Amino acid sequence: MSLNQIVIIGAGPSGMMAAISASGAGANVILIEKNAVFGRKLLLTGKGRCNLTNRCSLEEFLKRFSKNSGQFLRDAFKALFNEDLIDFFEDRGLEMRTERQQRVFPVTDKSSSVIRVLAKELQKKNIKVCFSTTVKNIWTDEEGRVAGVSLSDGKKIKVDKVILATGGLSYQFTGSTGEGFKFAERLGHRIIPLRPGLIALKTKKKDLKVLSGVALKNIRLYFKAGKKEVASSIGEFLFTGFGISGPLILSMSGVVVDWIQEGIGAFVCIDFKPALSFEQLEARFLKDFKASPKKSIKNSLKDFLPKCLIDIFLERSGILPDKRVNQITPKEREKLVLLFKRFSIEISKSLPLEEAMVTRGGVSLRDINPRTMESKKVKGLYFAGEIIDVDGDTGGFNLQAAFSTGYLAGKNAVI
Ligand SMILES: Cc1cc2nc3c(=O)[nH]c(=O)nc-3n(C[C@H](O)[C@H](O)[C@H](O)COP(=O)(O)OP(=O)(O)OC[C@H]3O[C@@H](n4cnc5c(N)ncnc54)[C@H](O)[C@@H]3O)c2cc1C
Repeated sequence: MSLNQIVIIGAGPSGMMAAISASGAGANVILIEKNAVFGRKLLLTGKGRCNLTNRCSLEEFLKRFSKNSGQFLRDAFKALFNEDLIDFFEDRGLEMRTERQQRVFPVTDKSSSVIRVLAKELQKKNIKVCFSTTVKNIWTDEEGRVAGVSLSDGKKIKVDKVILATGGLSYQFTGSTGEGFKFAERLGHRIIPLRPGLIALKTKKKDLKVLSGVALKNIRLYFKAGKKEVASSIGEFLFTGFGISGPLILSMSGVVVDWIQEGIGAFVCIDFKPALSFEQLEARFLKDFKASPKKSIKNSLKDFLPKCLIDIFLERSGILPDKRVNQITPKEREKLVLLFKRFSIEISKSLPLEEAMVTRGGVSLRDINPRTMESKKVKGLYFAGEIIDVDGDTGGFNLQAAFSTGYLAGKNAVI
C-alpha cells in the first residue's frame, strides 16, 4: 500500500472538516457515514440557522468550555479559529453575519447552506464518501498501531490512520449513537462518564406550571447546592411545562447536573432586579408605597413584576392580595424584597441526555495529544469533535470546537 490510507468515521462537522484538511498530498481519504446524507445534526443547529462560531477573543473563547477543556483546545484553535472558519465559508461564497453576543450565522439563515459548502468542497477534493455505511470495529496490529476498520456490509478496509469523529450521544436519530465511545474504550482509552450538557431542567414542585411559556429578561440566576453557589450573568429565562429553560439555564445546566448526580439538592434562585441591591429595592418599595398609600399590594406590584407572577409572589409571601400598601409591615416588605432578589425553585433533574444539545464527558483529554489530536494509546488513531471530553456554552462554541479539532486531526493524519 503506497498511499497514506486515511479513514474518517462520521460525516458531521468535525469529520467533514477532517476530510477536507486531510486530503493533502499523498493521502487517500475515505469518509464513512452511517446516514445517507451529510451532517444530520448540523442541519438542526441554531434552530436550523446554524450558529457557526463566535467572534469573541481566543481567551474569552477558551473560558466558554467546561473545566480545563478550553485549554486543551488551544492548539486546535491556533490551527483554525473563528475568523479562519468564517473565511473558509465566505471564500466559497457563503457570507456570514454577526449577531448579538458575537454569534455568527450564515446570511442565508439556513444550516443547509453550510452543509452544501462542505459537501461541495469534499467533492472538489475528490474525497470518497461511503454513505449508509456503519463502521462496526477498528482493529490494531501486533504493535498496537491502528490497522483497519470493518464495515456493516462485511467489508474490511486496511488503513494507516483513522479519525474517529462519531459525535456524542444525544439526538440519536441524527446518527450520534455513541459507537465511537465503545471503539475508543475497547482500544484502551478512558471514557469520562457521559452526561447531558446545555439542557433544560425539571423542577420539583408543580406549582409553577401555570407560568409555562413566561419568558423573563434582564434577570440574574443563582445556582445553589449545599454550600456551593454560582451566579450567572444577566440574561433570559423561560418557564416551561416541565420546569425551566432559556439561555442562562442551558449554560449553567452542566454544573447543576453534576450536583444532582452527587446527590446534593440543587436550587435556582431568580434575581428579578439584579441592578438593585436589597436595600435599594426596599427603598423603591417604600417610595412607591408612600406615593400611593391606599393602593392594594396586588396593584402596586404590577409596576414591578409580570402580571402572571403576582399571585405566586403574594402566596409565597403570605400577604393578602387586597391588603393596602400602607398596612404592609416591615417584615412583609422584607419578605417581598427577598422574593424579588432570591425567588427559589428546587430542581429535581435535567431532561435526559437524548435531548441535550451537547454530550459532556467522552474520550479523556489525558489520552489525546492536544497538538495533533492523536491518541496517546493507539498510534495512527485520531479524535475530532464531540467524542472528545470537551463541551462548550451556547453561542457557536461547540461547532467551532468540532471544526477546529477536525481540521487539526486531518492535518496531522496526513503527515
Ligand atoms: C438541537 C441542537 C442544536 C445545536 N445548535 C448548535 C449551534 O447552533 N452551534 C453550535 O456551536 N453547536 C450546536 N449544537 C452542537 C453541535 O451540533 C455539535 O457539537 C456538533 O454537531 C458535533 O459535531 P461532530 O462532528 O463531533 O458530531 P456529529 O455532528 O454528531 O456527527 C457525527 C456523525 O458520525 C456518524 N456516525 C456515528 N457513528 C458512526 C459509525 N459507527 N459509522 C459511521 N458513521 C457514524 C453520525 O451519523 C453523524 O453523522 C447543537 C446541537 C443540537 C442537538
